[in-house]
Amino acid sequence: MITKTKHFKVLSEKSKNPFHWILICILVIGLITTVTSGVLKRSKSKTINHYYQSYSFILEGFSQAINYYLINYRSSLLPIIKEHKIYNMSQEELIEILAEEFTHANPDFKNLFYMDKNSIITFSDGHSDDYSDVLSFDTVISKAHPFYVSELVTSREKDNPELLFSIMNPVHDDKGEIVGAIGGSLRIVTIQSVLQSIKLGDIGAMYLQDDKGKFFIHGNKELIGKSYTPNSTKYEKITSEFISQQPDGHIITEDPSGEEIDLFFNHIPHSNWILMIGTPHSVLKEIYSDYTKATILLICLFILCTIILIIQSIITIHYFISQKLKTVDIDPLTNLLTRARFETDAQKLAQKNPKSKFLLIECDIRGFKFINQNYGGEEADKLIVYLSKQLNAMVKENDGLIGRGFADHFYIFVKVTSIHRAIAEFKKYNETLNENIKSYDISFFPKFGISFLMPVGNGPRPTIQDLIGQASFAKSTIKDNMLVHYALYNSHLLKAVNRERFIENNMEAALQNGEFFVLYQPKINLISEKVVGAEALVRWNSPKLGLLRPDEFIPLFERNGFIKKLDFYVYKKVFTFINKMISTNQKMVPISVNMSRNHSKPEKFMHEFLSIFNEFNIPPNMVEVEILERSFMNENTLKTFTDLLHQEGFSVAMDDFGSGESSLNMLTQIPVDVLKFDRTFLVSSTADDGSIDSTSANFIETLIVLSKDLKKQTIFEGVETKEQIEFLKNIECDQVQGYYFSRPLTELDFVEYMKEH
Ligand code: C2E
Ligand code: CA
Ligand code: CA
Repeated sequence: MITKTKHFKVLSEKSKNPFHWILICILVIGLITTVTSGVLKRSKSKTINHYYQSYSFILEGFSQAINYYLINYRSSLLPIIKEHKIYNMSQEELIEILAEEFTHANPDFKNLFYMDKNSIITFSDGHSDDYSDVLSFDTVISKAHPFYVSELVTSREKDNPELLFSIMNPVHDDKGEIVGAIGGSLRIVTIQSVLQSIKLGDIGAMYLQDDKGKFFIHGNKELIGKSYTPNSTKYEKITSEFISQQPDGHIITEDPSGEEIDLFFNHIPHSNWILMIGTPHSVLKEIYSDYTKATILLICLFILCTIILIIQSIITIHYFISQKLKTVDIDPLTNLLTRARFETDAQKLAQKNPKSKFLLIECDIRGFKFINQNYGGEEADKLIVYLSKQLNAMVKENDGLIGRGFADHFYIFVKVTSIHRAIAEFKKYNETLNENIKSYDISFFPKFGISFLMPVGNGPRPTIQDLIGQASFAKSTIKDNMLVHYALYNSHLLKAVNRERFIENNMEAALQNGEFFVLYQPKINLISEKVVGAEALVRWNSPKLGLLRPDEFIPLFERNGFIKKLDFYVYKKVFTFINKMISTNQKMVPISVNMSRNHSKPEKFMHEFLSIFNEFNIPPNMVEVEILERSFMNENTLKTFTDLLHQEGFSVAMDDFGSGESSLNMLTQIPVDVLKFDRTFLVSSTADDGSIDSTSANFIETLIVLSKDLKKQTIFEGVETKEQIEFLKNIECDQVQGYYFSRPLTELDFVEYMKEH
């Protein structure tokens, strides 16, 4: 019932979500990863730039310091040129001046000297030598802008040769032409001590080389005065000479110990020197690897998150799908199969066993709607669960299938060896079931429709849907019979089905073609024995099916709703008849018309009833409406029907009083004018010899007395014998209707009958 639909709704709302959720999460994680790795990348390049920059700054600082020293040395040479015309001097004078100047020159100088155009150098210590093999005057001149710093040379002292370099300043003659150069030699250790005075920290070594790649300063003493080519093939091209050709900058190479280093180099102005700092490349590598680690960690995290998310989602989706499948296959209220699943499973079972016989049983509860309304949905659900357990126990014993459809509908499919034996067993089971359910709080009665599936070869095999249709139809045939609990579907029923189908297909046309007509059964006053009224009873004269009595088509019309249309059709016929009689001044009696149970809305009914009635000019007291009690309708509605009819001046009779559904209760509750006692009263009170059973007689008499007390007219239906008439006369029943006086008559015959009575 409602439980089922609720379930589906909740599930379908939830099950939409997981996919959206995964997508959103992946997008968010992707976004976070992209942003974070972007930030990491930027921060990495920033760190590295910073690293490079700081070394470049240090290096530049050192270069400036050295440059400052060089300028300083050169400056101390300038006064010599200014004060003396060196180029005009004799050798002795020159030596004297040099020696003199040397005494108060910068103490770093090892000596002072003068070089002439022929590269003959005269030193302050008095000796002179030819240096044309190592130093050409032209080279000095061409590079002397504004002064010249020499390459590294080894001093020519035999006992203690030193590595020296010299600073030279050009000497101009009167005409401004360069004629020689004044210079001073300096020990390389001077510069070394300058650099050593500045601490570099643990990382990094400092090198100084000239433009030929020869080292002035190098941690490896063996490389002093020599150039260097890395050993490994990877860096063999990055020789010290190659570096000296490069503009200031940075390069990765290998130092003599084979370690990879970041080499920063800077050309010192006014010289052909290049200052370099080498730091282990592992430092940068560490920075790189730190970032790489962070990035890998991030990616791993992302992958992990994604995997967890996907697993989680798969589990969730799986859960929802299995839940959904469960509700598609399993009825959440009873845990039985759903009807859809029952049908597929039963169909498979049937196909697997083409040589077997099967029983299909459809079961529901008599008046379940009534139980639902009276006890509420919760109690009704409990009842369904209770019945499902009872049925399931039976099915389990027989290894069959059981499912639940809408509301109280159950379906059972079992394999049987013999149809006869199966039915016998079912009868027994049904008795036990009826015994069992007596103990249940609410009294209820299940009813069953049973159809059969015969082995292949006995004509075309029906589908499970066909079988359900057949069982359902069989069950519908006992709908109004309280005493029968089950019905079997057979070929006789099949004919009935076909007939019903035919009727349904033809009813509308029949109404249009005027195939329905009305008979009138007289009502006789027992005292005067005169006609005091008549009941209008419908008939169908079908060209294809012949003359049909109401019980052949009315139950079907009640099921498909066509009865409402037919009722109004009958009313119109009846009003036309009354109208004709009155307008032609003929004798006429009130006519009662039947109102089907299907009319459930009093106002709507009244509106339609009046719109037909008002087409005619008939006093309303010529019309009586026979109403029926309805098990599913509350008494208020029935009372409203009666009140509305009374308001318009119509008389109201309670039809079939005393039959199964009516109750004494309504005698006081519903203000009907007439009580129409059901035929079963007389049938069950009359013995085979025609006499009236005394107990029944007393009961009937009590009812008549009671009715009179309540000021209600009484009429008995189905009076067939003289004995019955006598009895009814004795107990002062007002009217009778029955074959004893007359069968239902055509209009013409009824008019005749009225004239006679
Ligand atoms: P009902 O309203 O109880 O009508 C009385 C039924 O008893 C009629 O059957 C009538 O022919 C039958 N009957 C009368 N006297 C005797 C008798 O002495 N012995 C026996 N055995 N039967 C007798 P009918 O005409 O076959 O109608 C059957 C039912 O169909 C009616 O029962 C009524 O419920 C329904 N019906 C008939 N016409 C209409 C109609 O126009 N509208 C609606 N809604 N129902 C109708
Ligand atoms: Ca009736
Ligand atoms: Ca009746």
